[in-house]
Amino acid sequence: MIPSVLPTYNRAPLAFTRGSGSWLETEDGSRYLDMGAGIAVNVLGHAAPELVEALTDQAQKLWHVSNLYQIPLQQKLADMLVENTFADTVFFTNSGTEAAELAIKMARKYWYSKGVDRTEIITFDGAFHGRSTGAISAVPHAEKMVKGFGPLLPGFHQIAWGDMDLLKSTITDKTAAIWIEPVQGEGGIRPLPEAEMKALRALCDETGILLIFDEVQCGVARTGKLFAHEWSGVTPDIMMMAKGIGGGFPLGGVLATEEAASGMVAGTHGSTYGGNPLGCAIGAKVIEIVNDPAFLDAVNAKAGFMRQKLEGLVATHPEVFEEVRGMGLMLGLKCKVPCGDVVQAAYAQHLLTVPAADNVLRLLPALNISEEDLAEAVTRLDKAAQSLEVQSLEAKTN
Ligand SMILES: *Cc1c(COP(=O)(O)O)cnc(C)c1O
Repeated sequence: MIPSVLPTYNRAPLAFTRGSGSWLETEDGSRYLDMGAGIAVNVLGHAAPELVEALTDQAQKLWHVSNLYQIPLQQKLADMLVENTFADTVFFTNSGTEAAELAIKMARKYWYSKGVDRTEIITFDGAFHGRSTGAISAVPHAEKMVKGFGPLLPGFHQIAWGDMDLLKSTITDKTAAIWIEPVQGEGGIRPLPEAEMKALRALCDETGILLIFDEVQCGVARTGKLFAHEWSGVTPDIMMMAKGIGGGFPLGGVLATEEAASGMVAGTHGSTYGGNPLGCAIGAKVIEIVNDPAFLDAVNAKAGFMRQKLEGLVATHPEVFEEVRGMGLMLGLKCKVPCGDVVQAAYAQHLLTVPAADNVLRLLPALNISEEDLAEAVTRLDKAAQSLEVQSLEAKTN
């Protein structure tokens, strides 16, 4: 019999009933150190007092009114984002997938409104932009995500990640946009090198093609800057955000330059919940906290600390781990054993990690995690790796 919850996930047999900071607790009181943060969502940890306050204050005033009216908190959050990023304008969504849908529509509408027939979008292997029909159509090579869901939305070309020559030869006079994650998340924590980021921008400047960044996972201070592309000095024309912006409340958005957004006039797009007062009260608090230079400095210091510890871990367990990847607190451990085995072994140590493609274990902790908790996570990973080494030794001797 089908479970009452549609069984599209392979869930771990773990259920948490409370959380505080970087720790989660099950019903029976067992504590787990959370290095996944709900897949890069809980940027301030669980039950962050500042966010609980922002949520409860707003919950007593006004939750939802619809975008038929002015929403001062939405205006406030949009102003904060415009002031602190490349963007001139923002549309709020409830998720990354909805941001993907708008990014596609915005890019196509831009060219349409100029009277130019450019509708095609180039994406990259290992990319993940969400699960809507549009977002899966963008990654036709991802067989697990697209098989059986056709016909897919036409107009996407998915090419080898970071191959600039192939990219140049894929561009035609129909190309509307290039769409990329500055740091791939699901694809295995792969930062696009600065030289390629710059080359992408130069190529788009030459051709007029729009550059879309998906910062749903790598954005909102995750890499130690408010948005990951800032490290390269390169800015996009359109950018998706979600995950961290709500700190656990469903919130996302599309940021754009005035030029790129010029086709999106009244009546061309909408969302019932997107940018409602409750979500925006929380988003504004998240941005206020994470965009503080002292907060960002602390993220970078912790990232340096963690990276060094992880390099040590890889050196100690060369049979289990291959290398450390990532930027800031968006870290990956490329594994030599199946990374799912490491995730399981970490569960046994009461440590939560997240698997990714390319056999990479993801570490995406709360950005305000303490150095003690980071060190504890590495201690537990060390024990998890030891248990795998013992198992493989036993398998060999038997
Ligand atoms: C999670 C994710 C999405 C999809 O976001 P949802 O909120 O799950 O719809 C899109 N792009 C990237 C890079 C992501 O990590």
